[in-house]
Amino acid sequence: MLHSEILCFARKAEVFPRLLSGISVITPILPTYARAPVAFEKGEGPYLFATDGRRFLDFGAGIAVNALGHAHPHLIAALSEQATKLWHTSNLYQVPGQQRLAERLVAATFADTVFFCNSGAEALECSIKMARKYHAHHGAPQRFRIITFEGAFHGRTLATIAAGGQKKYLDGFGPKVDGFDQVPFLDLDAVKCTIGRETAGILIEPIQGEGGIRPVPPEAMRALRELCDEHGLLLLLDEVQSGMGRTGKLFAHEWSGITPDIMAIAKALGGGFPVGACLATEKAAAGMTAGVHGTTFGGNPLAMAVANAVLDVVLEPTFLAHVNSVANYLKQQLAMIADKHSEVIEDVRGQGLMLGLKCRIENTKLIDALRERGMLAIGAGDNVVRILPPLIIEEAHVREAVAILNDACASLTHRPAKVAAK
Ligand SMILES: *Cc1c(COP(=O)(O)O)cnc(C)c1O
Repeated sequence: MLHSEILCFARKAEVFPRLLSGISVITPILPTYARAPVAFEKGEGPYLFATDGRRFLDFGAGIAVNALGHAHPHLIAALSEQATKLWHTSNLYQVPGQQRLAERLVAATFADTVFFCNSGAEALECSIKMARKYHAHHGAPQRFRIITFEGAFHGRTLATIAAGGQKKYLDGFGPKVDGFDQVPFLDLDAVKCTIGRETAGILIEPIQGEGGIRPVPPEAMRALRELCDEHGLLLLLDEVQSGMGRTGKLFAHEWSGITPDIMAIAKALGGGFPVGACLATEKAAAGMTAGVHGTTFGGNPLAMAVANAVLDVVLEPTFLAHVNSVANYLKQQLAMIADKHSEVIEDVRGQGLMLGLKCRIENTKLIDALRERGMLAIGAGDNVVRILPPLIIEEAHVREAVAILNDACASLTHRPAKVAAK
């Protein structure tokens, strides 16, 4: 018997009796994801290499995480160096890497102070708790409700699924965490009507990511800021996806000229190392004193070394100019594809390298056709395909993506002919 046959036999021998006895068969990995049939073993810049040798142009960047592409030499050096020294000590002690990263984030943004955690959802949890604590600290603990928007995505913890308000993520998980009032996207009148004596703040993504690359126009951002000021509310921004240079500014809200009181970031902050942060003004953070919030892993030396290295690159004087110029080229090219293949693509939206193709066909069909041709892109709500390349791409990578997109669209317009990836 071949090795694989022995394995197969062993598996059946184990599985069949379990099936017969009525015990369900679950995969060793909890089956909460519908994964594409591909696994990668290495990456290089904007390319990923699959275990079967195929090469992919990665225009999804691990959902806007790998902002500097894969295997960036500066990040490898920072991680390797830290790995030989110290991984973890806990927040019982000073962590110099946190000090440095916090000072740099404070210098580069509206914020006066930073809390480090491990993920986007945790950054949102801190933001939400901080907004509630702010009002409690000022003698108004009844002000705990936060206004959010339809189509939002803020994470998968109990509070953040309540904030996101999406039925598909809330169903079956018991009573929705109280304290979130959802209004239609960009409906400012609805926001005004919803503000009440229990409202603590307004939470919004400057560009909805999972919701389908739906930007909030600068006027609407300014109107929300004014409403918050008028009613003594805090403006909370979720820049987990739109932050760290993705839109061509360090943070997307900078396009509107306003500043938030609290901001959650994560994804690209660690360039692939799990790390998140909650940034805030001194005023908004007033109630966050020793003991009221914490985390074991958040801001550990490994994460801080990598995030500081990411910031080294993103804060280079020409970095954002590069993002903007390559993004303009990409958006132009995508607009031409949308024109040429209007049966497949309805329009192109988004800012910088956070772009979306609103589809006329099922978005998953386009994603599959792209993957079959060696390019990765990511689905989103509103039947959109997200184009989220690493921020380090060059025009040559855009041309490569455009050729694949053209071919994929053509195959979906006429009789789809299956083409094997290179
Ligand atoms: C990804 C994302 C989150 C959640 O981040 P996790 O790290 O998955 O918890 C929250 N908000 C936005 C806008 C996101 O894109």
